[in-house]
Amino acid sequence: MACLFCKIVAREVPAQIVHENDHVLAFKDIHPAAPTHALVIPKRHIAGIRDATPEDAAMLGELMLAGRHVAEALGVGESGYRLVVNQGGDAGQSVFHMHLHVLGGRPLAWPPG
Ligand code: AMP
Ligand code: ZN
Repeated sequence: MACLFCKIVAREVPAQIVHENDHVLAFKDIHPAAPTHALVIPKRHIAGIRDATPEDAAMLGELMLAGRHVAEALGVGESGYRLVVNQGGDAGQSVFHMHLHVLGGRPLAWPPG
């Protein structure tokens, strides 16, 4: 198994886990782009949103709800936050196990760079 995030799910690579349930895992981003920066991932490997099928609809909903939960738990629920999925080269995706970024703790520019 070569996937870094699958290794985090398997506890073979350490991470600062902030939330977990049967289907998703959330942990702090190792190179935070904002004061609050966590990643929410499905435990089952899927490379990106481009690979999702209608059977993944429940999992995708769980990712969003877990993103909200993590934002609240990390204290940015009231101040605001952004949930982001990067898909492919132009979006700068660098890890090919789908993940939802939870970003907050400072004003976030729009449009993104
Ligand atoms: P993306 O560019 O959307 O593919 O996001 C990948 C994210 O994973 C980046 O923000 C990285 O900082 C983060 N990342 C890479 N390796 C690790 C790791 N071992 N633990 C936590 N976050 C990581
Ligand atoms: Zn994986």
